[in-house]
Amino acid sequence: MVQRKLVILGAAESGVGAALLGKHLGFDVFVSDKGVISDAVKERLQHAAIPFEENTHTLAHILQASEIVKSPGIPEEAEVVQQIRKAGIGLISEIEFAARHTNATLIAITGSNGKTTTTALTYHLLHKAGFDVGMAGNIGNSFAMELALGVQHQYWVLEVSSFQLDDIVQFKPHIAAITNITPDHLDRYGYSLDNYARAKFNIARNLQADDYFIYGADSPEITARLPIYPTQAHKLPFSMQPVPQGIYCLNANIVLPNGSHISTGNMGIKGRHNLYNAMVAVAVAHILGANPEDIENGLSSFEALEHRLEPVATVNSVLFINDSKATNTDSAWYALDAMTQPVVWIAGGTDKGNDYSTLTDLVKQKVKAIVCMCRDSSKIHQAFAGLVPHITDARSATEAVQTASHLAKPGDVVLLSPACASFDLFQNYIDRGRQFKAAVHQLKNPA
Ligand code: ADP
Repeated sequence: MVQRKLVILGAAESGVGAALLGKHLGFDVFVSDKGVISDAVKERLQHAAIPFEENTHTLAHILQASEIVKSPGIPEEAEVVQQIRKAGIGLISEIEFAARHTNATLIAITGSNGKTTTTALTYHLLHKAGFDVGMAGNIGNSFAMELALGVQHQYWVLEVSSFQLDDIVQFKPHIAAITNITPDHLDRYGYSLDNYARAKFNIARNLQADDYFIYGADSPEITARLPIYPTQAHKLPFSMQPVPQGIYCLNANIVLPNGSHISTGNMGIKGRHNLYNAMVAVAVAHILGANPEDIENGLSSFEALEHRLEPVATVNSVLFINDSKATNTDSAWYALDAMTQPVVWIAGGTDKGNDYSTLTDLVKQKVKAIVCMCRDSSKIHQAFAGLVPHITDARSATEAVQTASHLAKPGDVVLLSPACASFDLFQNYIDRGRQFKAAVHQLKNPA
């Protein structure tokens, strides 16, 4: 039998997963990356006898494929993508490819903010309630990698980005959730929020009448588009206000459509945004039949993930919090909203066209000083001059932590919640968060 040729574009986590899964399924796999492929990945591909190329895309080779899996990092405008479209070859995302090769029940979660937290919390609730469940996607291993490794579960909770959803065809979770939609990654969507939202709504496009669509009813960018993307699935809106047939928060409880209450009083993670995330996770657990006591226990035993409002240490009665994953103004808004003590705010980085005016009220109420940790702090100075007594600059995590600790008084909080990407001074948000934490530990225990 002639083997079907599968080409994988991009040799990062999802690409390698798709390559290994393709090989395992008997495809003739070829991996092509325009950049350098890391030694670890090369070794993995060689070990699986998968041919690859780096620093180039050889079109003659690529266009022989019967299907092509594209890494989420490769934009539609890339020359190789244009050529593939011209040739009429099917181009899909890794999540589409992986989902075709499992019979498990899929729960897929997307949104501008809260994907990772919601995915991890949903997994945690189901796991604690005794379900046979796995977690994959942008969190940990890619879904294709898990399947390639032979990991099997009855349920999978998948974190899915808009880039993954751009190139789905048949992908059909049983439960799909959009946490919220706010402007992000617009550079990849022709600076159109409509295009970006269309990708997010793709998550629900193949749902059938016995499936579920959970969506944030307090997110106007979602509700405005519900008529544009009708679905046959059961719809479950979630909100801070009572919503008909929906899920909402009332007096430290999450109220479910059947009227039952789940207490959030002992929830391990804080802030209004985490109540939203919890409503999604609780809704999923409820749909799948978890019992309320297990759900409550799960909510209280779940702890903050690294780089998401993560308490680091208390030094001289000042709590330092690492929210390095806050790479846009919306996530920084929720971080500031969650603070109950005066804040020394460490912000800044690579600005993605931010509009800081949404933060003005919270900053006026809560922030006593801003330390700009970035190369160009002019926009932050402009936005908050006159509103905050001290605005000062730092060029490294160590300098920012030292400056912030001088500005803070006992009982204050030092919050790293940058509202910006990290690439001006750091490799990525993880590097930024870890350098921040190292500087805090250094302050606590000087060598
Ligand atoms: P994502 O995977 O979508 O980037 P994360 O769970 O990693 O989401 O959180 C990213 C940032 O957004 C963190 O700073 C976190 O505190 C904040 N955040 C988490 N959930 C929400 C939400 N529902 N709305 C707004 N911000 C959120």
